[in-house]
Amino acid sequence: MDSLKKIKELSILAVESEHIVLIGHSNPDGDCIGALMGLNGFLENMGKETSVIIPNPYPSFLNFLDKSNKIIVYSLHSQISKEKIKKADLIICVDFNALKRVDTIEPYIEASKAKRVLIDHHPQPGDGFELMFSCPEMSSASELMYWLLKDMDAIQNPVGDASCFNLDIYTALYTGMMTDTNNFSNSVMASTFQMAADLMAAGVDKEYVQNEVFGGFNECRMRLMGYMLYSNMKVYPDLHAAIMTLSEQVKDEFGFEEGDSEGFVNLALNIKEVKVAALFTENKNIIRVSIRSKGSISANAMAKAYFNGGGHERAAGGKLVDIKIDEVEKYYIDSLKKFYEEKGIDF
Ligand code: 5GP
Ligand code: MN
Repeated sequence: MDSLKKIKELSILAVESEHIVLIGHSNPDGDCIGALMGLNGFLENMGKETSVIIPNPYPSFLNFLDKSNKIIVYSLHSQISKEKIKKADLIICVDFNALKRVDTIEPYIEASKAKRVLIDHHPQPGDGFELMFSCPEMSSASELMYWLLKDMDAIQNPVGDASCFNLDIYTALYTGMMTDTNNFSNSVMASTFQMAADLMAAGVDKEYVQNEVFGGFNECRMRLMGYMLYSNMKVYPDLHAAIMTLSEQVKDEFGFEEGDSEGFVNLALNIKEVKVAALFTENKNIIRVSIRSKGSISANAMAKAYFNGGGHERAAGGKLVDIKIDEVEKYYIDSLKKFYEEKGIDF
């Protein structure tokens, strides 16, 4: 089905639905929140009743995208989240490719009678969706959302005398794209700059966004970053690899808050020899994994093969269970060696 036909179908689904629930993935990032809030604003301007639900809290530097406190965090408000999902006649999943990425919300979505739509940019989308917008070639879910909503706006307002967009929607989508491309450095296409140009022309204050996202860190994060780079990061030049491990103990010492380690894993990749970098974060009884790669190494393939996860070619993640934080380094190095051998990677 061509994309305009699918967008028409989405418009009809939205118009016909009484209560629409938008869902983001666990550990939501800027792209997830930006795309959700952009879509939410658009649907609200269409006159729809919406709810936005995420599995667990987002980093506080993204607060500016939800000034009206629209977002419901399932881990804090599970009862109301379940009621909204039960009541929904349309569920739109944003910035993830399979229902398992919403963790404990999954069974409630499975049980719901609502029609399901996927809007995402990760490879290999799962099934169970009525309608799917899966575009791995897009920089971000927020960019995909922008192009999709632009077509939807033309359908909703054929004469062009009105629009379901407003500045808050544009700002949310710009923020999502800017964070997912790591400030215009990864996965940026001509269409991404086109979107940025359109949004700036429409009034998005890029300095405001820049300042909210990259200029609003607390002192703890900066000191933790210094510690991670100076004392914690290990580089294995022969394996072209780097590793950082963030234990609960170190988190406590630095007064860690969710989102404080955002971007750390990319720093290790700035080292010339390093082609694959990983950050392991102890989180109660699981270890969250972040992997970044350059050149021919697929972070996605590594995350799938050894870290119970997946993601994009060069930015992926996953989790480890039944392993202690001080055992992770050995597991990573052993996994890397196996991975290189399997893929025939020889430096
Ligand atoms: P991050 O390292 O920023 O947490 O995640 C980078 C990317 O990896 C995300 O955009 C997402 O696509 C993917 N990712 C992170 N965690 C998981 C996971 O547990 N499972 C899967 N399938 N993908 C993940
Ligand atoms: Mn994304």
